[in-house]
Formats: sequence, C-alpha cells, structure tokens
Amino acid sequence: MEFRDSPEEAAFRQEVRDFLARELPKGLGRPGEEEELWDGIDRYGFYREWTKKLAQKGWIAPHWPKEYGGAGLTVMQQFILNEEFARARAPRPGGVGVNYAGPTIILFGSEEQKREHLPGILSGEVIWCQGFSEPEAGSDLASLKTRAERQGDYYLVNGQKIWTSGAQFAHRMILLARTDPDAPKHKGISYFLVDMRSPGITVRPLYNMAGAPGFNQVFFDNVKVPRKDLLGEENMGWYYATKTLDFERSSIGAAMAQQNVLEDIVAVVRDRKKAGAPPRREVLWGLADRAIEAQVARLLCYRVVTLQAKGLVPNYEASTAKLYASELAQRVARTGLKVLGLYGLLDRQRKAGPEAAANRWAPLRGRLMRNYLWSVAATIAGGTSEIQRNIIAVRGLSLPRD
Ligand SMILES: Cc1cc2nc3c(=O)[nH]c(=O)nc-3n(C[C@H](O)[C@H](O)[C@H](O)COP(=O)(O)OP(=O)(O)OC[C@H]3O[C@@H](n4cnc5c(N)ncnc54)[C@H](O)[C@@H]3O)c2cc1C
Repeated sequence: MEFRDSPEEAAFRQEVRDFLARELPKGLGRPGEEEELWDGIDRYGFYREWTKKLAQKGWIAPHWPKEYGGAGLTVMQQFILNEEFARARAPRPGGVGVNYAGPTIILFGSEEQKREHLPGILSGEVIWCQGFSEPEAGSDLASLKTRAERQGDYYLVNGQKIWTSGAQFAHRMILLARTDPDAPKHKGISYFLVDMRSPGITVRPLYNMAGAPGFNQVFFDNVKVPRKDLLGEENMGWYYATKTLDFERSSIGAAMAQQNVLEDIVAVVRDRKKAGAPPRREVLWGLADRAIEAQVARLLCYRVVTLQAKGLVPNYEASTAKLYASELAQRVARTGLKVLGLYGLLDRQRKAGPEAAANRWAPLRGRLMRNYLWSVAATIAGGTSEIQRNIIAVRGLSLPRD
C-alpha cells in the first residue's frame, strides 16, 4: 500500500489539522491539563459550539452524502479525519444516530422519514439508541424474540432488549423486532424507528464494572409503534441492518487512542526519571512492547482502509483490526497500571502545595484505572473477540467452522 498521502489527501489533512489547531482548546483530552482547562469554562456551552462548528463543515456525519447534510467525504478522507481527530484527542459527536440510524434511513427510508429524522441527527438534538441485542440474542443476533404484530395502522411490540447504550437519554431507538415468527430466522425481522416516549417502554439502567450506567435493559409492554415508523419493507430488517457498514470502519480511532495513552505513560516515566526515580528494566520492556503493538494496530487499520479505498469490502481484515485494537487497549492499561503501581488508582491529589500542582501522586488522575475497567467492554461490544477470531479463522485462514 501507499503510506504517503496523495496531494489532495495531504491538503485535506492540513485543513483538518488547521481546524483543530484553531478551534480546539489547548490541552483538551490531556490528563492533568484538562481539569484546569475547564475551570471557569462552560463545558456544555463548549460542546454546543463545537457541534455547530463541525456541522458547518459537514463533519458531524462526514460519510453522509452532501445532499443530506454530510460532507460526502471519500473513505480515505474519512480515515484522515478520524486519524487526526483521534491524534488531537478532539471530541466527535455522533453515535448511533450518525453512524447507524442516519445512513440506514438515507438508504432505505421514505422521503417523509428522511425529512422527519435526518435534521435532528445532524444537529445533535435527537439522540438515538440501538435496540438490537436481547438476553438470548447477542452474537447470534438473528435469534431475537421481541415481537412486533401488525394491527391496523400500528405494530404492537412486546419483548425485551438489553445492553442498550444511552437508552436513558435517547429520544428514538432503531429497533429490530420479529414480524414473521414462521419465516427462517433472518427473514422474519423488521426494522423500526421507535419513539422512546411511547407508553409501555421501560428503561432500567445496568451498571458496568467501572460503576457507570453505560447501558440499559429496555422493556416493551404492548407498545404501539405507528406503521409510518417501519423502515422500508416488512421482514427486510436483517438486510437493512447489515447494509449500513459502508463507511470507514478501520478502527483507527481506537488504535490512535492507545498511542495517546502510551505517550501519557511514557511522559510519567520521563518525569519520574527527572525526579531521580529511574524506571526498572521490566517497565521499559513493557512499554517497548506496547509501542511496537501500537504501530501494528495502526498498520492493520491502514490495511482495512486501503481495501475500502479500492472499492473492496474488508472482511476478516476489519475483524483483525478490531480484535487487535480492543485487546491492545487492555494490554496498554495493564502495562500502565504496573508502571504507576497503586498511584494509578488515585483520582486526584487533594493536598495543596507544589507537589499537588505537579500532581505527583496521582499522575494520570485515575485514568488508567478507568481505562482498565472500561477496556473489557471493547472486546465484547460490536462483536466479541471470540466471534472475530472465528471470522479470521474461517474466512481469513479458510479453516473449517468446527
Ligand atoms: C459496552 C457495550 C455496549 C453495548 N451497546 C449495545 C447497544 O447499544 N445496543 C445493542 O443492541 N447491543 C449492545 N451491546 C451488546 C453487544 O452487541 C453484545 O454484548 C455482543 O454482541 C455479545 O452478545 P452477548 O452479550 O449476548 O454474549 P453472547 O453472544 O451470549 O456470548 C457469550 C460468550 O460466548 C462467546 N460466544 C458466543 N458465540 C460464540 C461462537 N459462535 N463461537 C465462540 N464463542 C462464542 C462470546 O464470545 C462470549 O464470550 C453492547 C455491549 C457492550 C459490552
């Protein structure tokens, strides 16, 4: 592959870098600096303004066509945008609305549905969640049991979803529900755009091991979903759900994030050396290994985007990048916690004075501990590591399924 940017790509990269240098508060996303940065600044005001600035450039939904408010970027430009934002630790609004609901509505929705839903997604005012997984249907999603029975001008929905991220804030849900229980399992599923304020929907938070209510259980008890909220044709939901992955999916954001964490750990080790505490040899070796692995992760991402830029659909290559980047996050957090020892668990140093200013005893403000706890989720969400390994073994190595 060609690692150098073409002249057009280099110009686009420069445009992104200039934008970030101009618009992003200095130090945002960097441990230690961030907290001071927000002193006296309205955090929510910043995110509102930031969202507006990105929307003006079409960078909320860079992969959407221009006619729908996106930037119509090529896959390579999306990759550059993602890489530069991750490198600069710049926040990216988006989520389910931008990445799944919007593209699916653009491809398969009616004109009314496009008019109703796309503006709210682009402005960030309407938050979406994804109601796919169920207690008995995760890796084998097509086994889902939530029923949607057609009754005149609405569908009556009964069942349960689980692990629904952000359902407690969401205004709308993309819901997969079974409309034909007699059809083969992939063929009896429909795709709905459900109003989360509908009577009969109950959202119950689930706390992850980092103590955050990241996801929820969502119960449907005789919920009436109007026919206008069915996307496309009845029983075609599985097809629609698998067709929205056309945008850049190299995992470059996840890979760059690990590079950033590694830089933070290295900075702590250097500071300690300056303060007269040189690192043990094992610490250096661990960091050297992670540095190599972070480079490998980036190269795997480049491989995926190169295929996409050639118009090919990455298959086991995308699984390889996702698997490697998500497991690397766990290794980086583990290495970092070994470097920091028990100080890695400290959120902040309360004692006043010059030591506190240098944040000596809580150098990364508990970030690595939080990364350590959160990093488990990445090897489950979006397809577990075992499922990725199955794909690599069967499709990449042409091995038999069992
Ligand atoms: C942080 C997070 C956020 C999420 N957000 C959402 C969301 O917003 N919306 C949503 O719909 N879902 C969401 N999910 C759910 C996620 O998609 C599922 O957790 C995932 O698909 C795995 O399904 P499961 O949890 O039912 O595990 P299962 O599929 O039951 O798997 C259990 C274990 O068995 C293994 N296993 C299963 N099948 C095989 C096989 N064929 N070969 C080898 N091993 C196998 C798995 O790897 C796993 O270790 C989220 C999950 C997480 C962790």
